[in-house]
Amino acid sequence: MFEKILIANRGEIALRIQRACREMGIKTVAVYSEADAEAKYVRLADESVCIGPPPSAKSYLHVPSIIAAAEVTDAEAIHPGYGFLSENADFAERVESSGFVFIGPRPETIRLMGDKVSAKEAMKASGVPCVPGSDGALDDNPDEWMRLAREVGYPIIIKAAGGGGGRGMRVVHSEATLIQAVQMTQAEAGAAFGNPVVYMEKFLGNPRHIEIQVLSDTHGNAIHLGERDCSMQRRHQKVMEEAPAPGLDPKLRNKIGERCAEACRKIGYRGAGTFEFLYEDGEFYFIEMNTRVQVEHPVTEFITGVDIVQESIRIAAGLPLSRKQKDIHFKGHALECRINAEDPRTFMPSPGRIVLYHAPGGPGVRVDSHVYQNYYVPSHYDSMIGKLITYGATREQAIARMRIALSEMIVEGIKTNIPLHQELLVDQAVLEGGVSIHYLENKLGMNKH
Ligand code: ADP
Repeated sequence: MFEKILIANRGEIALRIQRACREMGIKTVAVYSEADAEAKYVRLADESVCIGPPPSAKSYLHVPSIIAAAEVTDAEAIHPGYGFLSENADFAERVESSGFVFIGPRPETIRLMGDKVSAKEAMKASGVPCVPGSDGALDDNPDEWMRLAREVGYPIIIKAAGGGGGRGMRVVHSEATLIQAVQMTQAEAGAAFGNPVVYMEKFLGNPRHIEIQVLSDTHGNAIHLGERDCSMQRRHQKVMEEAPAPGLDPKLRNKIGERCAEACRKIGYRGAGTFEFLYEDGEFYFIEMNTRVQVEHPVTEFITGVDIVQESIRIAAGLPLSRKQKDIHFKGHALECRINAEDPRTFMPSPGRIVLYHAPGGPGVRVDSHVYQNYYVPSHYDSMIGKLITYGATREQAIARMRIALSEMIVEGIKTNIPLHQELLVDQAVLEGGVSIHYLENKLGMNKH
């Protein structure tokens, strides 16, 4: 096992990884920007290194500073967390060529999955169901685009191979606008991602977002930890997540989960990863893979008892998975509310000083947050200040505990989205479960034209 790990991230996930390391007896190095000098995880780390000024480009995204910090502290491995450099294949390559272990997949896997066309091809070849559409990239023949779109059936969606964060996509409802839409998406993708390649998919009208968590080691073992339902979104940003997905047939879960595990074995996947699917009318359609730990991993930890971060560290150290598929049992239900420093209605970020803070507690309550009373929420980064996760024997109990936890949670001095979560947890459709990815925006009146 490693003796010392550098955590190349900030906020709640930096603290989460640090806690995993401490439990495993591994020393930690925190890196921080000048804006995070006072952060809790920086104080709690065995060592810490300032890597630059507040803007991410000059600190958390600045590869030479991070590598230098690992060198001066004699760290053996680097955990990238999520966001920032976590899905940057060049960074993973630099980490390894500098003699450190990258806690995540091999650089070539990150590259393969980072290009949506090659990712989809690899998934198809492994038997993972994908959204019907073009076989790979669109060529430069508009007649062929029209033929294909007719075959797939309108509406269709044109997506950039290099797209991400909900950008680089265009829905087309009829042939009249097809050619122009393809050309515009190509031009925009070229400008935004440096890659003009686009592909075509059937546009699903009212899907849910359901994703499968996997763990895969370097000894050919891969398992799945079931699914999470992350349909509660606005502008493609997840707001609330849960596991298991309400109403999903356990047989279908095991079938799709096993396909994902098999795909991991086929591509030689290393570490923790997530296969994201759109789910409609009882069918799963792969859309992309996240080659890193995800924000919402705790709901899976609650229902499986597996520590996903510790497993990813074990895998990086070359150890085999500590559990087999037959040892994974799903028990109870977990919910996660992302607590953001933002206006609950306009979603405008609300940085500033937290003058009063009280975290909830009690049975089945987990708070993953780096903030504390008098903490200053910097304006330079993501607005998420923590995650509130609850567990119950049933979905009803997890919801009841979440309502209590939200009512106990006090964050004053900045605005938070706690009122939005409270509103969602008394919403009839949410209580029934299984809403689509459009539910929240429709409820908030964001889709009125
Ligand atoms: P990104 O990497 O930008 O997040 P994704 O491929 O994951 O892109 O898609 C983001 C979101 O776009 C999905 O969660 C869904 O809301 C919508 N979307 C993508 N593909 C389709 C599709 N074929 N049909 C309907 N919606 C889609």
